[in-house]
Amino acid sequence: MSAGERVLLVTGGGRGIGAAVCRLAAKAGYRVAVNYASNDAAAAALVREIEADGGKAIAVKGDVGSEADVVAMFEAVDRAFGRLDGLVNNAGIVDMKARVDEMSAARLERMMRVNVIGSMLCAREAVKRMSTLHGGKGGAIVNISSAASQLGSPGEYVDYAASKGAIDTFTIGLAREVAEEGVRVNAVRPGIIDTEIHASGGQPDRIAAIRGFVPMKREGKAEEVARAVLWLLSDEASYTTGGILNVSGGR
Ligand code: NAP
Repeated sequence: MSAGERVLLVTGGGRGIGAAVCRLAAKAGYRVAVNYASNDAAAAALVREIEADGGKAIAVKGDVGSEADVVAMFEAVDRAFGRLDGLVNNAGIVDMKARVDEMSAARLERMMRVNVIGSMLCAREAVKRMSTLHGGKGGAIVNISSAASQLGSPGEYVDYAASKGAIDTFTIGLAREVAEEGVRVNAVRPGIIDTEIHASGGQPDRIAAIRGFVPMKREGKAEEVARAVLWLLSDEASYTTGGILNVSGGR
């Protein structure tokens, strides 16, 4: 099957790493569903950009942390494209810098609901459509983890790091669960990447502060993460499942 017939859903695809994945996937010929939470303008602009470039895309608003929204999102993709070949579980949040002894239950619940349960719910819906066990034709899932899962992020956001640790383990377990059903499941661990997520966590200068600790002495670009994601989605990675690829400048 050519990439041109394939359909890819990217959660949190309106901005940052997700948007870079959508752009690159559309250039590779995928029809792309761009999920986002609230920034209608960013998602709409990305869809226009992809279409102006000759690609096919739709924007699908929905909170991955809401089961009803996730179910509705996949149904919208079914209606628009009639098939699903890939899912990139990219939607994710950080929170303000804090120690664990300062974190409220509400903060922890939100972190795990969006970053962990959101990815699991989306994977559930994707497996229902792609697994040969359910009559699907196979497919690929790429989960966006973080270098934080290995570093722990002490004094900054251990809750976020732990949510990404859960994503690593989920990747390994789901990969093995559906390995015989035509579905490959892998993850990418980005390091410090130039997006708006740092400002949304109250640290607009975080890249400048951390750059020096990266062996390559620079931050990554969203496109550099997207290239790894596109490879894991593609048939070039046909024997790779349960893999977790660091895209972090050596950190
Ligand atoms: P970003 O620039 O802040 O973009 C986040 C995207 O996710 C936006 O499109 C946002 O929607 C969407 N989103 C947020 N919460 C959502 C929800 N509940 N439901 C659906 N969509 C939601 O983030 P990013 O830096 O590209 O990060 C993308 C992923 O990479 C995350 O999983 C993050 O943890 C991971 N990561 C990032 C870095 C880094 O340095 N940037 C490093 C390691 C891992 P709206 O546009 O509507 O707000």
